[in-house]
Amino acid sequence: MKKINKNNFIINIIKKDLLNKKYKIIKTRFPPEPNGYLHIGHAKSLFLNSYISKKYNGIFNLRFDDTNPIYENIKYIKSIIEDIKWLGIKINNIYYTSNYFNKIYKYAIILIKQNLAYIDKLSKNKIKKYRGTLINLGKNSPYRNQSIKKNLKIFKKMRKGYFSEQSLCLRAKINMSSNNIIMRDPILYRIKYNLHHQTIKKWCIYPTYDFSHCISDALEKISHSLCTLEFIDNRTLYNWIIKNIKIKFNPCQYEFSKLNLTFSILSKRKLKFLVNNKFVNGWNDPRMPTLSAYKRRGYDNNAIISFLKNININKQENIIDINVLESYIRDNLNINALRIMGVLNPLKIILINMLKHTEMILMLNHPKKQKMGFRLVPFHYKIYIERSDFKEKKIKTYKGLILGDKIRLRNSYIIKAKKIIKNICGIIKIIFCHYYSNTLNKNQNGYKKTNVIHWVSKQYSIIINVNLYNYLFKKSNIIKKKNLIKEINPFSLIIKNCYVEPSLFYYNKKKKYQFERIGYFYIDNNKYKYNLIFNRIITLKIKNKNNYIN
Ligand code: ATP
Ligand code: MG
Repeated sequence: MKKINKNNFIINIIKKDLLNKKYKIIKTRFPPEPNGYLHIGHAKSLFLNSYISKKYNGIFNLRFDDTNPIYENIKYIKSIIEDIKWLGIKINNIYYTSNYFNKIYKYAIILIKQNLAYIDKLSKNKIKKYRGTLINLGKNSPYRNQSIKKNLKIFKKMRKGYFSEQSLCLRAKINMSSNNIIMRDPILYRIKYNLHHQTIKKWCIYPTYDFSHCISDALEKISHSLCTLEFIDNRTLYNWIIKNIKIKFNPCQYEFSKLNLTFSILSKRKLKFLVNNKFVNGWNDPRMPTLSAYKRRGYDNNAIISFLKNININKQENIIDINVLESYIRDNLNINALRIMGVLNPLKIILINMLKHTEMILMLNHPKKQKMGFRLVPFHYKIYIERSDFKEKKIKTYKGLILGDKIRLRNSYIIKAKKIIKNICGIIKIIFCHYYSNTLNKNQNGYKKTNVIHWVSKQYSIIINVNLYNYLFKKSNIIKKKNLIKEINPFSLIIKNCYVEPSLFYYNKKKKYQFERIGYFYIDNNKYKYNLIFNRIITLKIKNKNNYIN
């Protein structure tokens, strides 16, 4: 894969700023609202900000924009910090917008005193109606010309808890006829009586995201305030606020396009909908595009970082094929996963000429890395192979075992299918095979190279549960789909039994496994179940672009 992120437009801007000595130090931040878990889209922004500060020996802060206690929760704060740690991204400081509530309150008073903010008593709906549309200009609120003195008095009483929620709010006095709707007297403060996770009961009025976001950036002296394209119009408001509250430092905002991935929803609101309506089992359900789900599923953090390093930073809205992310995950697993054998749909084989003893076969844990060690796998006269690995008659390009033909069992012997037994429905129950005792890991003299299939010993295998995950949605591009429920893939999770080598009983919690010829698997963190549960991290082969099931 070509490296594409070397010289994105933001880095070019920073290089120029440094050349012109515009800043002494580069400061960036990642500013999540603690109202959900981080998804891979957030990770794009997180990585970009941290990468830039690191590249120029700057400072990188994590700042929680925590201005809406209704939707925020300490559990989100914890998970965001944990996810960032897991990715291996270093943070210089953790700040909260709520650290600045005193200052932001004073800035609001500065605006009121300049007659640039007023208390509005219009209802929420009326405010919306008066704001107008792209075609219709807005209309002034009847409270717009209230005296400064009255505005100040009410605002102070608002803070003290004299009024009920939604009875009033503080608005900036800008221009109700502006072409930019955001400039039509935006709300700066609203009343909320919820407890706040940081300030607890101290406040009952909270600054809006827009009012506080730019102030927090300015107070932290963020040199390059990076955000996604939907904030372009907000930039004008941010500049207006900073100019009028007279903070000297004005962070420059630069916008880049959001990350979109095929078969994925990257919107907290929609992800929350899926969780709340139980279409998935929580935010870390392995079908979710959240970092906590990726971690649980067994995606490697370094593989995710490699993906983030190589995605384009620009201003074009686009959608990246999920295969790009998956190829990083797969390449990493191919190098690091331990190999074992497991059979999903068993078909019994009896080796007619083998004595009923057990032979232990020494196998490499990774075909190309002796360093990863060996294991002993029991071989016995009854084995299971995959049902799809046997056919009575030859079909072109078929690589499995055919009646009357030979095949190699992975890391063990060549066998020949002699006879089959079927049940009354015509389903094959047993294959009787001959095994060639002199072919352990070597070819029989004069016999052409055989195909290879995997197997497990019937007697010694253990049964585990496997969660086979497919995409959550049937369509590759679902970003703009209104009815998400209609698009949900009914086969996004298939739970099966799998017969695996006994060595997996002593699985390593930190290791990922390749079940040979099936896929990559990782132990699920559900500790309360009797059976071992493994999640399929990813299939071995790249899927067809529009395929949502394997
Ligand atoms: P969502 O759209 O998922 O609801 P959000 O913007 O409301 O996300 P925030 O917590 O405010 O969530 O996001 C923190 C930062 O992550 C913001 O700077 C935002 O621009 C950025 N971000 C959010 N989604 C993406 C994405 N898909 N690609 C890149 N950056 C993103
Ligand atoms: Mg946001």
